Amino acid sequence: MIGITRRTFNTVVGAASAVSALALTVGAARSARTGPSVVVVGGGFGGASAAKYLRRFDPSLQVTLIEPNKTFYTCPFSNLVLAGLRTMDSIGHSYESLRSKHGVNVVHDTVTAVDPVAKKLTLKGGGSMTYDRLVMSPGIDFKWGAVQGYDEAASERIPHAWKAGPQTILLRKQIETMDDGGLVIIVPPENPFRCPPGPYERAGLIAHYLKTNKPRSKILILDPKEKFSKQALFMEGWKTLYPGMIEWVPLSQDGTVERVDAKAMTVETEFGTKHKAAVINVIPPQKAGAIAHAAGVVDETEWCPVHQQTFESKIHKGIHVIGDASIAGAMPKSGFSASSQGKVVAAAIVALLEGRPPASPSLSNTCYSLIGPNYGISVAAVYRLKDDEIVSVEGAGGVSPIGAPSAFRKKEAEYAEGWYQSIASDMFG
Ligand code: FAD
Repeated sequence: MIGITRRTFNTVVGAASAVSALALTVGAARSARTGPSVVVVGGGFGGASAAKYLRRFDPSLQVTLIEPNKTFYTCPFSNLVLAGLRTMDSIGHSYESLRSKHGVNVVHDTVTAVDPVAKKLTLKGGGSMTYDRLVMSPGIDFKWGAVQGYDEAASERIPHAWKAGPQTILLRKQIETMDDGGLVIIVPPENPFRCPPGPYERAGLIAHYLKTNKPRSKILILDPKEKFSKQALFMEGWKTLYPGMIEWVPLSQDGTVERVDAKAMTVETEFGTKHKAAVINVIPPQKAGAIAHAAGVVDETEWCPVHQQTFESKIHKGIHVIGDASIAGAMPKSGFSASSQGKVVAAAIVALLEGRPPASPSLSNTCYSLIGPNYGISVAAVYRLKDDEIVSVEGAGGVSPIGAPSAFRKKEAEYAEGWYQSIASDMFG
């Protein structure tokens, strides 16, 4: 903007509006949508981004997004709901703009089967649909039973709250109604899983609520791992904000929980130590969403191997898998990664449908975590393709410094808010 006066700025904006008006007219004419058909399964971070950007990159495409829920509740910021710092409504987003502004055909249904040879989907509602290219971004499902006694029924008493929605509300209610002096146990999963810093952000934000409302309470994290994402920063934050309130027990100190008893509200570790708690949050080990298994695009890891330039499945041609479900090289399973991959897959599909070679992508990820409402930390990375593998670009990105002053942490908490607003409007605006 340097050197642009208000008058020239207005002219530029005016010209831009004229161009976008023209683009809209052209778009409207092209949005007769007679081009190839791309179906997107799952309207979360990956799928909503892919659907929107497919239409932006080529308005002639017929893009259908299939998603069962009319409102998408984001996992990002759902830990703030647990702490009573946000409402569920504030993390809910509708598909209206994708439909009305971007010309995506949004269908509220669940895909129950995929025939990769006939290029056909079956819907729970009874219909079926064909596609030229399919994008799948179904997120994760849980390995029920991996922790003995922890199945879907047990999650009604011991919530996972690892998909935002009723489980978030349930865990919030339990924390709100527990007595002062009670114990909250958090059981994070083994790698790889959705949002590596998430369980530790959760501990800090629950601690914020407890410190403010039930200060004699404690949090115990029983972890089957030796280390975790942004560990030094989290531990510094816990010590500063909640001294003595959060205890983290790693694998080597008997952190692995082997069984839970939802009736007795106890967990038992590998070496037989029993802990009883007022609230237990088990986050089970994870795998690619069930429809990826039904479509036959998972390998023995239970995740989806893809060519990392185009995210096209290594198992079935014509199906692209993005987001948490995919094996995306060095990228973590995050909403930012999934959205970034949604744009890359959109560009790749447009190129492939036009018979052009797809570009070599550049991707990025930034993960903010809040330890308290005014205490943010972050990690950022940039990725590129090397021999069909997504690798980190050395020297790009980084993590927040240890020992930073509280004003710095406060700024990062503000940036986290800005990040949320911008990614939400990018996907759903
Ligand atoms: P999702 O966003 O889960 O979308 C999957 C969609 O597919 C769902 O809407 C589902 O209904 C739909 N679906 C599934 N099966 C079918 C089917 N058969 N037919 C039709 N639709 C189907 N990431 C960040 O970047 N920043 C954060 O701060 C952050 N915080 C988090 C905090 C918590 C507590 C948690 C749990 C996660 C957090 N994440 C964060 C991670 C982020 O939520 C996920 O990585 C992201 O949602 C992955 O996007 P996705 O598209 O793969 O899956």
